[in-house]
Amino acid sequence: MKILSVGSVAFDSIKTPFGEAKNLLGGSATYFSLAARFFATPAIVAVVGQDFTDEHRQIFTKNDIDVSGLVKLPGKTFAWGGEYGFDLNTRQTLFTHLNVFENFKPQLHEEHQNAPFVFLGNIQPNLQKLVLNQIKHPKLVGLDTMNLWIQNTPTELAEVLKLIDVLVINDSEARQLSQEHNLAKAAKKIRLMMRPQAVLVIKQGEHGLLMFYNNTIFNLPGYLLEDVFDPTGAGDSFAGGFMGYLAQAGEITEANLKRACVFGSVVASFCVEDFGTKRLETLTKQDIDQRFAQFKQLTYFELH
Ligand code: AMP
Repeated sequence: MKILSVGSVAFDSIKTPFGEAKNLLGGSATYFSLAARFFATPAIVAVVGQDFTDEHRQIFTKNDIDVSGLVKLPGKTFAWGGEYGFDLNTRQTLFTHLNVFENFKPQLHEEHQNAPFVFLGNIQPNLQKLVLNQIKHPKLVGLDTMNLWIQNTPTELAEVLKLIDVLVINDSEARQLSQEHNLAKAAKKIRLMMRPQAVLVIKQGEHGLLMFYNNTIFNLPGYLLEDVFDPTGAGDSFAGGFMGYLAQAGEITEANLKRACVFGSVVASFCVEDFGTKRLETLTKQDIDQRFAQFKQLTYFELH
């Protein structure tokens, strides 16, 4: 099953308490597709600049990610810098250079227009909408966003929120979007901004997530890790595992959504074990299935 993802392909410069790395291949579409590939065939719609080399491209192609929608424009690739605090849950953006994104108007080719599963990764909401408008028969559309767009383009974001099936955001974004500190109240308000049957996933970093679907609330803890090096991409790889599993399962049921939450969390837990995309590149389906089983054990208890 093909899963189309529009988002950023970026060069990231990251500082954590454990080290620093510059110009790592990153971006929302990159992490998403490297995570989703274990469940479905990802295709990306994104833009890069002249500094994007064949070696970078191979990271996608050798993992069977369709890059026919990856456009190269004159100029530099989108670049982002971030620094993490000691608890790794707080992140400060050091810089955002949109570069080639400023002139990007995604034009989907026919195969991509027919994709049933679509993820609108974290980019300008008007670009997310531009892509969505070209999808002929969407079966499930997911969306991610961030503080920058919630603050700078609230009207465009509100418009696109009404058109999607799954919103995946983190707790601070949920608070910012709803203007509510309490997450239960925040979720209520955000769900009113979406279609009634839409799914809301609020990620809570190392503390796991909350999923809201119809009258169900599902609370999953984070997978307990000893070595966390770089949380960058955790959100996008969660989304990749989550949406990828749903594309593979084919049907949106409560049980599938809950399993999708676990698969998303498992893939994200691997992502943070090394800098950038390194761990995702060496990851296997067997690693994922093993950790999925451990996850089950960690959260299982008998009633009597
Ligand atoms: P996350 O999964 O939230 O850790 O996402 C991290 C990725 O988001 C990094 O690889 C960045 O390149 C990318 N990113 C950060 N800011 C933006 C932005 N404003 N637009 C698009 N992508 C971004």
